[in-house]
Amino acid sequence: EAATSNDFIREIVRRDVEAGRYGGRVQTRFPPEPNGYLHIGHAKAIVQDFGVAEDFDGVCNLRLDDTNPDTEEAEYVDSIKGDIAWLGYTPGVVVHASDYFSQLYDWAEYLVTQGLAYVDDQDGETISAQRGGFGKPGVESPFRDRTPDENLDLLRRMRAGEFGDGTKCLRAKIDMQAENMWLRDPVMYRIRHAHHHNTGDEWCLYPTYDWAHGQSDAIEGVTHSICTLEFDSHRPLYDWFLANLPLTSEAPRQYEFARLELTHTITSKRRLKKLVEDGVVDGWDDPRMPTLSGMRRRGYPPAAIRDFCTAIGTTRNNSVKAIEEFESFVRRELNRTAQRRMAVLRPLKLVITNWPTDAAGAPLVEHFEVANNPENPANGVRSVAFSGELYIEEDDFAEVPPPKFFRLSPGREVRLRGAYFVTATDVVKDASGAIVAVNCTYDPATRGGDSPDGRKVKSTMHWVSAPHAVDATVALYERLFTAAAPGERTGEALDDLNPASRTLLTGCKLEAELAEVEPGEVVQFERLGYFAADADAPLVFHRTVGLRDEFAA
Ligand code: ATP
Ligand code: MG
Ligand code: MG
Repeated sequence: EAATSNDFIREIVRRDVEAGRYGGRVQTRFPPEPNGYLHIGHAKAIVQDFGVAEDFDGVCNLRLDDTNPDTEEAEYVDSIKGDIAWLGYTPGVVVHASDYFSQLYDWAEYLVTQGLAYVDDQDGETISAQRGGFGKPGVESPFRDRTPDENLDLLRRMRAGEFGDGTKCLRAKIDMQAENMWLRDPVMYRIRHAHHHNTGDEWCLYPTYDWAHGQSDAIEGVTHSICTLEFDSHRPLYDWFLANLPLTSEAPRQYEFARLELTHTITSKRRLKKLVEDGVVDGWDDPRMPTLSGMRRRGYPPAAIRDFCTAIGTTRNNSVKAIEEFESFVRRELNRTAQRRMAVLRPLKLVITNWPTDAAGAPLVEHFEVANNPENPANGVRSVAFSGELYIEEDDFAEVPPPKFFRLSPGREVRLRGAYFVTATDVVKDASGAIVAVNCTYDPATRGGDSPDGRKVKSTMHWVSAPHAVDATVALYERLFTAAAPGERTGEALDDLNPASRTLLTGCKLEAELAEVEPGEVVQFERLGYFAADADAPLVFHRTVGLRDEFAA
């Protein structure tokens, strides 16, 4: 499988397994912070974390990184679980970083007793200023040389709730002159008297990311802790904590890969949240959102998302992928799986003036067998009703055809797909002069869509029988951001919002078969694109993608 050559992390895991490291065991984790919905960037991490575990008969846990009591909500936890399942993965176990608060605290006391951590009474601003920078020396805290006994006493009183928010913190005692800024006595615990969604009011100390992450990995038995490139500079700290704790088994290792970024897309929960809060979109699952829930409603197949994430590979080079490439994976998958149907989005009445009546004098109804998916003959055929009153697309007719317009116009013959050749004769207009119907004649000898005399027509159009049509609403989507790199111009992504990212069409006419569409099912509307039936309101369709591949490799 191609996944091996373009993924440096799989190569590392393979070598570790071959060398018998960790007894040949592979364990990963996906550690989202439940402060928003997952987006396409997270999909890359999920496919990586769960995919590596799957390939090497290992386990991948879902760890909710809930160390911050302020921003996390149960709604986000539920959405994260649902999105992972939808992508096709099953966590070994679902755990919370907060499940380890007691163990973390005990380890903090241990570091204090070893003289490797101390309580600092300075405020956050002072501590940050003293950190210095590249070529700028750090300044040691005046509290740095407290004795282990004094520190232990203070830490226990912090734990007991004796001190107010932000009045003290616990710091690792490493090296204020270290070249790596993360090693300049990083903060391990902050005091926050806040209710936590999992631990309630039990804690008023909350661990920082760096103090929680590697230790959580170690507690769970993670072997390969995969994260994105911005954590590269944290790795020495990750290793320092683990090297200084009394672990009973081999420590996990952290590996970093480049984030997935897409053109015309933002992948930041904070910014996506703002779109939701400002009402720019209808919610986290708005089909224009790059969230997994948005893509699900839009009709993106999970297999296409997985294939794309695998195909782009895993490297340490930051790059932005073209959204058109992602869409071509979506299109490829849907081309294989989606049933073909006929739908008219902007209907114009077409009346066949020489259409016969049946024995009882009623207009005749015929039925044509049409393939459900020519790419997949096993999907069979369906019967589509045809009659003397049809709908065609408004823009498939021109009273005065412009140059190179080969569709229907007065005197011109075209094929109605799978049915008959028709020739337009004249138009019917209302008082304002707008065309309300087109009259035409049909050639009964062309039944099925071919002429026995071999005469050719220049276009084939889709149609829906008017008396059989089902009414629907269709949402057409364009890019949510017009700029390839939203925010590049002004620093504010919202400045690049596309004001016309959604067009809602009502009164669309669908072939009768679509009355039975399953909620969430994606079908191809012939000549128009792929459309997903809304999960809650099936006669609302979202355009997933158009038919034309716009990706040039
Ligand atoms: P955001 O910046 O959108 O808030 P995050 O990195 O803070 O994202 P987390 O919930 O902490 O979000 O992420 C969980 C996992 O997903 C982490 O391992 C993170 O590295 C990974 N991840 C997040 N965004 C991307 C991305 N764009 N590409 C690849 N992996 C990502
Ligand atoms: Mg984060
Ligand atoms: Mg973030």
